[in-house]
Amino acid sequence: MRPAFFLDRDGTVTREVGYVNHTSRLELLPRSAQAIRMARAGGYICVLVTNQAGVARGYFPESLIADVHQRLAQLLAARETRLDGIYYCPHHPSAGEPPYRSDCDCRKPRPGMLLAAARDLEIDMAASIMVGDKISDVQMGRNLGARGILVRTGYGRGEEEHQRQDWTTTPDHVAEDLLDAVTWVLEVDDPRRATGERP
Ligand SMILES: [Mg+2]
Ligand SMILES: [Zn+2]
Repeated sequence: MRPAFFLDRDGTVTREVGYVNHTSRLELLPRSAQAIRMARAGGYICVLVTNQAGVARGYFPESLIADVHQRLAQLLAARETRLDGIYYCPHHPSAGEPPYRSDCDCRKPRPGMLLAAARDLEIDMAASIMVGDKISDVQMGRNLGARGILVRTGYGRGEEEHQRQDWTTTPDHVAEDLLDAVTWVLEVDDPRRATGERP
């Protein structure tokens, strides 16, 4: 069993631009590739977990998600890293038609994607970290006994400044971005690990 970083996609790994309804709208945040490279070098599995209700809403076909994630893989490969797994939820509880209109177990903050990844990839949940730009991402990780980090990219800064009074959990750390989050974890978990590649 290995520890993992569970990574929200939009606003955390990639720029939050609203619905990514075309591959051309996908853009890596500047330090994401370095963050993933460092996490994997430190022994962590990196798994993307993303809600893509645009499918249920009829904004784009489910097949586009594979195209977008192929583009993401290309962008990361150009920066000499990769993800170990990608999980997405195409559902919405009230929008669209079945099968995409579904009260599913995989739509964040429900735990389905994390549980599936933990099973598929033999992840040690208690040693893992969920990173996202919404407090619901943080909450989901903490519900499963993982740590939760909020990043200030994407919706994160607004969540921190304008929603804090409504937070249902306290993040283990609030990070400037994904690289800051990974750096913090590497230092907390094993100071010796943090002596490699630096920001
Ligand atoms: Mg997000
Ligand atoms: Zn779902």
